[in-house]
Amino acid sequence: MKILVVGGVAGGAGVCARLRRNSEQFQIIMFEKGEYISFANCGLPYYIGDVITDKCALQIQTPQGFGKRFNVDVRTFSEVVELDTTLKRVKVYNHQTQVEYWESYDKLILSPGAKPITPKFAGADLAHVFTLRNIPDTYKIKEFTDKQKTGTAVVIGGGYIGIEMAENLQHLGYQVQIVEANTHLIASIDLEVAAHLQNYLRERGLKLFLKSRVTEITPEFVCLENGEKIAADLVIMSIGVQADTGFLKNSGVALNALGQIIVDANLRTNVQDVYALGDAVEHLCFTGAKRNIPLASPANRQARLLADIICGSKQQYPGSQGTAILKAFDLVVAVTGESEESLQQNKINYLKSYTYSANHARYYPGASTMFIKLLYTPTGVVLGAQIVGGTGVDKRIDVLASAVRHQLTVQELTELELAYAPPFNSAKDPVNMAGYVAENVLLGKSKFFYPEDLARVQTTDILLDVRSKSEYQQGHLSAAINIPLDDLRGRIAELEPHKKIFIYCAVGLRGYIAQRILQQNGFIETYNLSGGYELYSVLASNK
Ligand code: FAD
Repeated sequence: MKILVVGGVAGGAGVCARLRRNSEQFQIIMFEKGEYISFANCGLPYYIGDVITDKCALQIQTPQGFGKRFNVDVRTFSEVVELDTTLKRVKVYNHQTQVEYWESYDKLILSPGAKPITPKFAGADLAHVFTLRNIPDTYKIKEFTDKQKTGTAVVIGGGYIGIEMAENLQHLGYQVQIVEANTHLIASIDLEVAAHLQNYLRERGLKLFLKSRVTEITPEFVCLENGEKIAADLVIMSIGVQADTGFLKNSGVALNALGQIIVDANLRTNVQDVYALGDAVEHLCFTGAKRNIPLASPANRQARLLADIICGSKQQYPGSQGTAILKAFDLVVAVTGESEESLQQNKINYLKSYTYSANHARYYPGASTMFIKLLYTPTGVVLGAQIVGGTGVDKRIDVLASAVRHQLTVQELTELELAYAPPFNSAKDPVNMAGYVAENVLLGKSKFFYPEDLARVQTTDILLDVRSKSEYQQGHLSAAINIPLDDLRGRIAELEPHKKIFIYCAVGLRGYIAQRILQQNGFIETYNLSGGYELYSVLASNK
């Protein structure tokens, strides 16, 4: 069987390697239009920031090394420019020799990935404006920053790559500013999680321009729709990616409106013997919806699966859930599954709860706090989670990613027995805690209200701050009265049981205890502020 593979990085190289491990009999040809194959896209920002200093480290495999190990005919500088599905062949243009030729296939695998979106505004093609996809892009930026070691840099687009670039450019000495059209950074997380990140980045000296659109880039400035001009010696455009599927336009392979390849659960396109994977395809998501999730883990998992499917396996791709993680200086932001925004868009019923937990025992030196947003169905099935914090966020998001994948309930989160010793954890892991809090809601022991509900608290209701007197004096919600939790039983007569009581404390725990005391003393309508005054303050500072 003769198998052609278009694209030589995560999906392409991955599928070739697995095909060869499955069978020594196949003839495999891999076409890559660039010079490099199997390189570490995800490491590129760190090479620019001098965190990775060894150029060779970016290349996981050379074309020669890969070809030899897996007996694959690796053709670099070879762009597939046309596909003839009737005669089962592709037209290839060699950028080095300028020769064009046809190559026939029995099976064709498409993994052309996604390229940066380049907007049409004036100045996008100036010499100090860059996008980042591959090693040549990286070297261009590096050459620029090596010559001009400091100055002002504007990153257009506050997604993962944009923020990684912002960190690395500041690391080099640039004064960095991020322009983002959306209301918050990182589209796949919700506003209150992003607010933690945004406050942190501002504290680190980055300037953020949210809800801002670029209209033009000049040699000195990035110009915004509102007339503002931001000085920029260097501009990185990272406003998202689009499937690199121009060569498939008239091929008969079905693409969606965004040019992404439509595949079924066996990663088959609509054309016989043509398969596709990776960043260029429209993924089947966990919820049954379809969307593009340009991440390395789905591409790698699909590569392995597709090689097996071609070799006769009946397995199907179970869908992507968009698990992702970002290092922004010392802060870590991570997400898995659905966000609140996506649940609302897809009209899926959900509940949410927030918890602040320490990454390990507070008494052990170096503990830090992480904020977890947990989303679940009204019956408790975990739909998604987002975490922002420091050390230990990575391990909690992976536990929650497993929970989402296997449709665990919040009750089951409480049952997980997770490794504990003081330097690593508390006896109740932050994931257990998120489960306990959500379980209390489902059991009717706790009822939440959220920062966005504060505007609906009436003057006839009671807003009750159960933190200590000194915490209250340092700052509180206007109209809140203060009865510290430990005084509540003795002062309960000061509250009228027929009124709605909106309780808050620092992060929600004392508020919950107060709620239980009041509920058991005949108070009917009590609500506890999820995330407490801490979350309220984060949102209030996010201006
Ligand atoms: P790609 O890796 O893009 O490979 C496609 C290849 O196909 C390209 O080399 C392209 O030149 C080639 N090609 C395209 N068209 C043709 C053609 N017609 N003929 C021949 N060759 C063609 N993901 C994460 O999960 N975590 C991260 O931290 C992360 N960081 C990233 C940082 C950066 C800077 C970038 C750019 C990406 C990052 N990603 C990250 C995304 C991740 O790299 C991709 O999801 C993954 O590489 C997708 O694999 P792919 O095979 O679909 O596409």
